[in-house]
Parts: sequence; C-alpha cells; structure tokens
Amino acid sequence: MVFSPDPKPKRIKLTKKQESELRKQVWTEQHGLCADCGHWVRLDGDTIFNTFHLCHIKSKGSGGGDDRPNRIGKCYRCHILKEHWGENG
Ligand SMILES: [Zn+2]
Repeated sequence: MVFSPDPKPKRIKLTKKQESELRKQVWTEQHGLCADCGHWVRLDGDTIFNTFHLCHIKSKGSGGGDDRPNRIGKCYRCHILKEHWGENG
C-alpha cells in the first residue's frame, strides 16, 4: 500500500456513523426509491444486493466529497453495475 501526503483540497469526510445516518436521510427523502431505475430498495436488506446504496454523484476520485449535495441513493444494480463496472461503457 502506498501512502502519500494528500495534495488535494480538503473534502468533507464522514464517519461511519454519519454515513449511516446520511444514508437513512437520503433513503427517506427518495422514499426508498433508486434514483436511476426507480425501484424500491430496502434501507437495510439482507445482503448488499437488496440494500439501498448511498452513492457519490461526483466520484471521490474526481474530488467529490461525502457531504449531502454530492450524494444520491441507488439500488445495487445501478450503483455497482453501471458506475463501477462500466456496463454502459
Ligand atoms: Zn436502480
């Protein structure tokens, strides 16, 4: 693992507890619906496959922070398959 001094401007980072509270908040605001496909997702499912995912609108790699304006809730499919595995190229 490589550690480097962080040259980027400070971004808001949430603790695990804050993250989980924010996820609940976003889930409530979106009425439990995925922002992409509109499917209803459980706040806390049995597995990551049926659990509401709190995503970043602007990825952390592009300098996006963990604060509310940069967050959006999606289902597993939309989050993992589309964003991280590049289903759409
Ligand atoms: Zn979805």
